[in-house]
Amino acid sequence: MHVLICGGGAIGCSIAYFLSRCGVDTTVIESTGIACAASGKSGGFLARDWCEGTPLAPLAERSFDLHAELADTVVGEWGYRRLDTYAGFASQRTAGRRFQSAHDLDWFAPNVTVSQAIGTPNTTAQVHPARYTRAMMRAAETLGAELRQGWVTGIRQQHGRVAGVEVDGALVEGDAVVVAMGPWSILAAQWLPLPPVFGLKGHSLVFDTGDRVPAEAAFLEYQEQGGAVLTPELFPRNDGTTYVCGISGEDTVPVDPARVTPDNGALYRLEAMCRELSPVLAVAPIVTRQACFRPVTRDGLPLIGKVPGVDGAYIATGHSVWGILNAPATGEAVAELIVDGASRTVDLAPFGPSRLRPLEPAELRVR
Ligand SMILES: Cc1cc2nc3c(=O)[nH]c(=O)nc-3n(C[C@H](O)[C@H](O)[C@H](O)COP(=O)(O)OP(=O)(O)OC[C@H]3O[C@@H](n4cnc5c(N)ncnc54)[C@H](O)[C@@H]3O)c2cc1C
Repeated sequence: MHVLICGGGAIGCSIAYFLSRCGVDTTVIESTGIACAASGKSGGFLARDWCEGTPLAPLAERSFDLHAELADTVVGEWGYRRLDTYAGFASQRTAGRRFQSAHDLDWFAPNVTVSQAIGTPNTTAQVHPARYTRAMMRAAETLGAELRQGWVTGIRQQHGRVAGVEVDGALVEGDAVVVAMGPWSILAAQWLPLPPVFGLKGHSLVFDTGDRVPAEAAFLEYQEQGGAVLTPELFPRNDGTTYVCGISGEDTVPVDPARVTPDNGALYRLEAMCRELSPVLAVAPIVTRQACFRPVTRDGLPLIGKVPGVDGAYIATGHSVWGILNAPATGEAVAELIVDGASRTVDLAPFGPSRLRPLEPAELRVR
């Protein structure tokens, strides 16, 4: 069996790794570069039990555990570590009132009140997402997978079965196809009966903070002078950088992933906020200013499973804010689904694509 995976993000590369572990002939088709999109620009924060009470809980728990296992068993270094996680709130330094912090995090300014510990090394961890994604692809290649650079321009069927993928207009034959193009998976709704996937834009900055910030992640509420409330997430990494994201919004997803650009206004607000939150961030050089789109569905749950009515067609996308956390368990479950006909480790029923109305090709506007 030859499986063609469309998209080389965390999801596509994790599926490639788990399929290759089962000895399946696998090709990843990536237009722009492994981890060039959200999978390279996200926070990489992982939480074991933050999805409790939702259909995502079993996937998240399995995936949190798999991240630890992969860090121990797969060759490569992608900054996996456990960490403490805190929540709090802040306003501009000039704002009058101060509150007593329940926890003393000395890399924050006095205008930050750390009110709660929300994760411990048993329940929260992190990876460098680009390095994780590239390591999964490399591990898959070591097991025989192929990485092919090119644009997926169609999916061919014969008698209700997948026959292959068009790459830059030419047919690459295969027995199965997995659509894992993040927000660009919506393009596949032209060729397969699939519900839409949308992109929600998020901005982030990466600071060079050296060893001045301990392994403490923080989720804050920050009130700007005008009254707007931002919700920054701060993730110090073991490579001496600190990643901060915080301003999301709607924007058109460009067809070419390389043309995703940040909005200067959003970056300016994010930088001004970071300089206010921490004396370390106030003086640290910024090494990356970026934006990316997280893939979201109509009901907020991912689409993972068989595409109804087309033998050999699968989808794995729409992981929203938890795509890095849930990549390993998605990879494992999709590999089981393709190889054995059903996933054993996680029940994929809540994520089946047939739960949502497919997009009519006429509804798709490509600009
Ligand atoms: C600001 C921000 C912070 C985040 N923080 C976290 C976090 O802390 N923890 C967490 O778990 N998740 C986080 N996420 C979510 C996570 O990043 C995403 O859910 C995840 O990266 C999605 O991975 P993917 O592989 O589905 O898609 P993507 O990473 O978007 O990959 C899709 C790939 O498909 C390729 N492609 C597109 N069109 C074509 C085509 N026609 N032919 C071939 N290839 C194509 C693209 O080039 C791209 O490489 C965050 C997201 C954002 C935006």
